[in-house]
Amino acid sequence: MSILPIIKEPASSLRQESQPILAVTPDIKRLILDMGQTMKSAKGVGLAAPQIGQNIRLCIISTEKGPLVLINPKITWKSLRKDVEEEGCLSCPNAYIKVKRSKLIHVKALNEKGQIFSFKATGYFARVIQHEVDHLNGILIIDK
Ligand code: ZN
Repeated sequence: MSILPIIKEPASSLRQESQPILAVTPDIKRLILDMGQTMKSAKGVGLAAPQIGQNIRLCIISTEKGPLVLINPKITWKSLRKDVEEEGCLSCPNAYIKVKRSKLIHVKALNEKGQIFSFKATGYFARVIQHEVDHLNGILIIDK
C-alpha cells in the first residue's frame, strides 16, 4: 500500500465530472487500498478518487468499522429537510465553509467486490457522503 499525493484546488481534475467504473479490476482494488491508507494518514473522514488524480466514480468514507467503499455511488433520494454545518476538505486547505445538506439520504453503490448494495444515511454520515459525491461531479465546498 502507498500513500498518494492529494490534489489541491485549483487543479482542473477536481472540477471534472468523473467516469463510471465498468469493472472492479485488480488496479481498482489496489487503488482502494491506497486511498484507505492515504485517507488515514491525512486524517480525513472521506476521500474521492479525483482528489488523488483519478477521474473515476469511487470514494471512501471513514467509519468505525473501517473505510466504506462506494463505487459508482448514486444518491437515489434526499430529504427536503436540510441543515447547515461547517465543512473542510483535504483538497481545499484552510477553507472551512458552511454547507447546506440534506439530513437523510438513500444511497445505492457497488462495494469493493462489485456487488450492488443500498443503505440510508443520516446526519454527519449523510453529509460526508454528499461531500464525496460532489467531488465525483467536480464540485468543491468553495463552489457552494
Ligand atoms: Zn473534499
